[in-house]
Amino acid sequence: MNISAVFSALLVSIMAAVLWKHVKLLDQFYVIEEELELTRQSQELSQVRIDYQAALQALVEDGTRMVCSGRMHTDRVCRFESLCYSTEAEEFVFFHSNASIMLPNLGPRRFQPALLDLSSVDDHNTQYFNFIELPAAALKFMPKPVFVPDVALIMNRFNPDNLMHVFHDDLLPIFYTIQQFPDLDFESRLFFMEGWNEGLHFELYKFMSNKQPLLKEQLKTLGRLLCFTKSYVGLSKITTWYQYGFVQPQGPKANILVSGNEIRHFAKFMMGKLNITLDQNAAEAYIVLFSRSMNRLIVNEAELLLALAQEFQMKTITVSLEDHSFSDIVRLLSNATMLVSMHGAQLVTSLFLPKGAVVVELFPYGINPEHYTPYKTLSTLPGMELQYVAWQNTEEENTITYPDRPWEQGGIVHLETKEQERIKKSKEVPRHLCCRNPEWLFRIYQDTKVNISSLIQVIKSTVKKKLGLRRQKWTQGLYPGKVRESKCQASAQGTSEAKLFVSWQIPWNLKFLKVRDVKYEVWIQEQGENSYMPYILSQQNYTFSENIKPFTTYLVWIRCIFNKTLLGPFAEVLVCST
Ligand code: UDP
Repeated sequence: MNISAVFSALLVSIMAAVLWKHVKLLDQFYVIEEELELTRQSQELSQVRIDYQAALQALVEDGTRMVCSGRMHTDRVCRFESLCYSTEAEEFVFFHSNASIMLPNLGPRRFQPALLDLSSVDDHNTQYFNFIELPAAALKFMPKPVFVPDVALIMNRFNPDNLMHVFHDDLLPIFYTIQQFPDLDFESRLFFMEGWNEGLHFELYKFMSNKQPLLKEQLKTLGRLLCFTKSYVGLSKITTWYQYGFVQPQGPKANILVSGNEIRHFAKFMMGKLNITLDQNAAEAYIVLFSRSMNRLIVNEAELLLALAQEFQMKTITVSLEDHSFSDIVRLLSNATMLVSMHGAQLVTSLFLPKGAVVVELFPYGINPEHYTPYKTLSTLPGMELQYVAWQNTEEENTITYPDRPWEQGGIVHLETKEQERIKKSKEVPRHLCCRNPEWLFRIYQDTKVNISSLIQVIKSTVKKKLGLRRQKWTQGLYPGKVRESKCQASAQGTSEAKLFVSWQIPWNLKFLKVRDVKYEVWIQEQGENSYMPYILSQQNYTFSENIKPFTTYLVWIRCIFNKTLLGPFAEVLVCST
């Protein structure tokens, strides 16, 4: 090999190395460019600064971490670090690394039926949340992530165009989920994943965060792979009071955990956001008639308005979602004496009524008010302090039916003639499941000519308290603690007579309270027997001799009762042998 050949070979390899270096540099340049762009995107999403390299490294090294509360998918809310979402696959992604945590670790039970409900509606199969799993190493082959620096609350809205659903399923649960977890606050970002557009009441959702909520559709514009630095997934159901009838006919939830106190606390928050200040001293009492303009009409509304004004000697105002701003409606309701409305979602606004106000719900012909009680349940929650009245049109000649309308507005012409006839003849819609029962839709979308004298009679016979009279102050029932230092002494004289001497001290909290009526309930139970003898006493000791046998063991249960209805817990059972 001659020298020139060696030289040219060397030159070629040097050239190759230089070129290679250049390409590498260019590569790196593009990577840095891309990262700068992704950092900019992440920062655009929020004002929070993020260190892109550090965030990426954390994701690759630590993977996703999840810890959830709740035992079942229906009561679970999960906290994630580095949960990602592929906007192309429309899937959440859990990246596994050595530092990943997944609690609960359910194995295949994560799919039976899901990890959690993404909306506050219980176990609805269109609302399930899950993620797919990947090793963190797969990130090398995926689009570079865009990081979401805000703490995120990821959830589904259930039915954003229906006001009852907006309040009951979304706003109240969001409000109290935020209060439940210390990382969440009004600086958190809401992500609505149900896939709807903003909907009719988006302004109300905006009150729940100082940052613009983002819809599923908008996520695509942010990037192909989004990674939530810190997020909560799911909603607390603790404030919901109604089940809509997906598995059993609709009705109040079996175990309601919310009281009027929390509902009113939320109402006050909303009123603050709507810039409404309560005018407690507003002089004039008035009635609000909440009207619907499109369907389920009151056909003699003007006449009804006049009659109410005359009967109750009050100004009467009509409002509707179509003609009034939401804040005007709430402003009017927050001082109203009575709200009258056809059954329908607009009645959820009764949560803005002042204590003592009357809610009058009107039901069309064939609809049994006892079967549809979302607004009755709301009004009668302890602490709402509303008076609820239901009125039903029982006169067939006063109803207007619409068999020719589309099925979702109650039309029935698509049904077989025989079935149409049956529905038309039926006097009451039998209990049914949600949501497409044609007989229910047919009846609920009727218009009604209200029989005014019958309505006024129902209102007057139900409303006990004087209209417009506000209760002074509602004090929540405070429950007694356990009685303290309870003792039992037994005595027996001979083989025929025996006595139990039982004494106790007042519950600890009683000395700080002014309670009108304090009583003690004592149960004497012979050991091994199912029945017991109950006594109600005012004093703190008593000698029981009635039905007390010698050489017998008795269990003695004692509890305190405030104001006849507030039952305290039983103290430790006393065992007493004669
Ligand atoms: N709605 C209204 N005026 C109408 C009919 C409906 O404001 O004439 C509102 C209603 O309050 C609810 C939404 O439109 O927020 C959907 O009404 P729909 O009849 O479907 O539900 P419902 O009121 O029976 O829950």
